[in-house]
Formats: sequence, structure tokens, C-alpha cells
Amino acid sequence: MSFDYDLFVIGGGSGGVRAARVAAQDAGVKVALAEEDRYGGTCVIRGCVPKKLMVFASEFPSIMSEARAYGWDTPQGAFDWAHFRSKMHAELDRLEGIYRSLLKNAGVETFDARATVVDAHTVELSTGERKTAKVILLAMGGRPTLPDIPGIEHAITSNDMFHFDQLPKSILIVGGGYIASEFAGIMNGMGVKTTQFYRGSQILRGFDDEARNLVSSEMVARGVDLRLGVNVVSIEKTPQGVRITDTDGNSHDFDHVMFATGRHPNTENMGLEQVGVQIGPKGQVVVDAYSQTAQPSIYAVGDITDRANLTPVAIREGMAFVETVFKSNPTKPDHELIPTAIFTQPEMGTVGLSEEDAKAQGPIEVYATSFKPMRQSFAGQAEKVLMKLIVCATTRKVLGCHLVAPGAGEMIQLAGIAVKMGATKEDFDRTVAVHPTMSEELVTMRNPTRSFP
Ligand code: NDP
Repeated sequence: MSFDYDLFVIGGGSGGVRAARVAAQDAGVKVALAEEDRYGGTCVIRGCVPKKLMVFASEFPSIMSEARAYGWDTPQGAFDWAHFRSKMHAELDRLEGIYRSLLKNAGVETFDARATVVDAHTVELSTGERKTAKVILLAMGGRPTLPDIPGIEHAITSNDMFHFDQLPKSILIVGGGYIASEFAGIMNGMGVKTTQFYRGSQILRGFDDEARNLVSSEMVARGVDLRLGVNVVSIEKTPQGVRITDTDGNSHDFDHVMFATGRHPNTENMGLEQVGVQIGPKGQVVVDAYSQTAQPSIYAVGDITDRANLTPVAIREGMAFVETVFKSNPTKPDHELIPTAIFTQPEMGTVGLSEEDAKAQGPIEVYATSFKPMRQSFAGQAEKVLMKLIVCATTRKVLGCHLVAPGAGEMIQLAGIAVKMGATKEDFDRTVAVHPTMSEELVTMRNPTRSFP
């Protein structure tokens, strides 16, 4: 049977674009890709990239106050959101253009259209055209989940945070995950009166307790009005913005309320179940270790599969898919020991097991130090950082590394290599300290802070 293409990719985000490009370029197969929105997907258009630019923008007030402490005669000045926003969107346009040209140069045919699945080898585009392919790759990503409460239509999501006509004067951010906590820092840094509601007892559930406790207390010290154990019950529109009622029965007024209460995969109305693709309880496409669905000619990568919802993971899954399907080299994407950064203020970098998870698995030693870093201490700031290693008491392997510090995301990338290689505490200790830095503490902690049998 002959097909229009060897591979048809649905979704032009990180995973889909990488798989399409590598399949066309390295495996030499005939590839098409359909994207209904903008190329680059969540990461480039409404996620990692504009978020990080906003983190940078929001850090300047504290940098300027530090500059004054160091003797610079620097006025605080005002933030021109419109100037920043138009530069940010110009940058996103540039990056989208790069994504499009990467595909074009690799010989991938692109369709600016929504695609749905008709049968195991056929997709239908919103233009009405049908295309056939030997293999279909699902890479449609995910989108924000909103709770079903009265007035939720007056709420915004992370998608809207890059498009304000003018910066709000006040905002309520609901949620305690990556997105809520990162945007709380951004808004606070930009001078917006920021309140964060989290329904549980501490934000960043699942991360190392000591690390998330420090992030939380530093966020509060920097001005975020963090309320724990509280949630939104209903929202009303007011002439100025929104009035929310909380679980304690109190009302509060804000210019905006932003919900960052999780994300879910874009699997609805795609025709997937009828072609034998299995959908899991969170709406995710169920795949095996090679990203193959229950329908053998259909594969899926990235957030649509809800494995580890991170750009570099989607890219890895896309590359492993191409190796497996088009290069006769069956490859499982590796989801073990993924280093990650949370761009809260302060930033957190983490890889491996938290102290809580590690001690449930066996005897461990914990090496942790929290101190005022030189730069901020000189400027008279009370801010503290954390450097922490979790070590297996029997194998001596470093099972987890948790950093809360300026640049923690950069540091954890490098510490992640050692942890992934199976480095022991003694391997860390054999490495000469880089002085004077914050991360030198990772190789100079001689005695365990505590041990668990
Ligand atoms: P998360 O799943 O990380 O967090 C969702 C938060 O919303 C949790 O605090 C959760 O509370 C809370 N929540 C869920 N439902 C409700 C509800 N009905 N009412 C109130 N609160 C609720 O999702 P995010 O949206 O923050 O991020 C999605 C994913 O995107 C992340 O898991 C991550 O993989 C990725 N991401 C990665 C980034 C990075 O690498 N720096 C940055 C941003 C996103 P509870 O804890 O009680 O369940």
C-alpha cells in the first residue's frame, strides 16, 4: 500500500517539530506536519521562553537595589511593560520563524491547519483534505485546566499572562505548582501586588521539603502574599476587575485572577478512540516504552502522553521515536533522573530523590547547608541559599541534589551529569572546590547534617 507520507506529525511544538525534522533530515523519510496555531508550541509561544524573559524583566528591581548597595548611583526608575511586551513578542515571532524554516529546510511539508485522525493511516485537515501516512505521530501538547466553579469564565490562565494591555495593579494567582509559583515571583518582581492561594500546606508539592520551604519563605520575604490552605470558591466580575470568595468565606478584589491549577492533554475531538488509541484517566494518550500507542501505526510524544511534561523530555521522546521507527534502532526515552529548574524567585534546581522519598526507600545521609551568599550578604540582604545532597548510606551514591540559589537552574544541569553518572559522595568530595562560589559547598560538606537508618 502506498501512502502520501512516511510520517505525518500532528502538532508543531517541541516534540513534534524535532521528530519531524530529524525524521526528514537524518532518516531521509517523507514527512508532513500540521499545526493549527503557532509553530513552537507551548514552550516557545506561551511557556518556557516568554516566561523566562518575564523572569529576567522582573529581576531588575532587586538587581538595582543591590547595585545601590554596591555604590552605584542608580535610580529605581519605572518599568515600561508595553516596551517589554512588544520586544518579547517580536522575539517570539523570530523564534517561530526559525521553527518554520527548520522544518522547511529539512524538507518537511507543513499545513497550517488542525488535523484529526480518521483511521490508522489517515488524517483529515480542517481544510477538508485527507492525507495518508505509514506512521502518524501525535504531539498535540496540553493546555491549562480550570476548575468548575461559578464565575470561572472571568479567570485568566498562563496563556494570557504575556498579553496584558497594561500590567495589572493586583493579581491573585491560584495554585502551588511550577506555573503558579513562577508567575507569583514574576508579577511581584514587576511591582504588581501579588497574592497566591494554594489549597495545600506548602507550595511545590512533591519537591524536597527543605527546598520548597525555603523557596516559599523567600517568596514571602520578597513580598508575595502567599496564603496556604485556602482556595477560591467563586468569582464575580466587578467594574475594576474581579471579586473572589475564598473557602474561609472572605471576599477579595483583584484586577485579575489567574489559575495555574494543572494542565491536561489535547486529546479531545481528535478521533483517537475510534481508531484504537487508548486514552488514560487524565485524557492522556497511553503509550508503551517506545511511545507506541495501542494502534501500532500511531505513536505519541510530549505532554499529550503526560509522562514528564517538560520540553527537553518531549524532544528526547521525539528523537527516540525516530530512532525506533525510521532508523531500525529501538530506543526507549530515558525518564530517570531528569534534572529540572523551577524559575521561582529564588530559583530552585533539582535532580533525583527528595529527602522524604529517599528515606522511605532505604538508609540515607543528608548533607545540607543554608547560608547567606556573598553577593547578597554584602548588599545587606537577608536572603539565604540551600545546597543539599541526599546520599545512599550503603552505595554512597548521590541520590538527589536540591539547590535553591541564584542560578540554581544552571548549576543543576552540571550536578545532574554527576548524579546521572552515579557519582558517590566521595566523587563529589574528590573534586576541588571552585572558590569563592555558592556551589563549592556541594564538594565541601564533610559531615552529614542528619542520617536515617
Ligand atoms: P502542577 O501540576 O505542577 O500544579 C498544579 C497546582 O494546582 C498544584 O499546586 C495543585 O494542587 C493545584 N490545583 C489543582 N487543581 C486545583 C483546584 N481545583 N483548585 C486549586 N488548586 C488546584 O501544574 P502547573 O500548571 O503548575 O504546571 C504544569 C506542568 O508544566 C508541570 O507539571 C511541569 O511539568 C510543566 N512546567 C514546567 C516548568 C519548568 O520546568 N520550569 C515551568 C512550568 C510548567 P495540589 O498540589 O494540591 O494538587
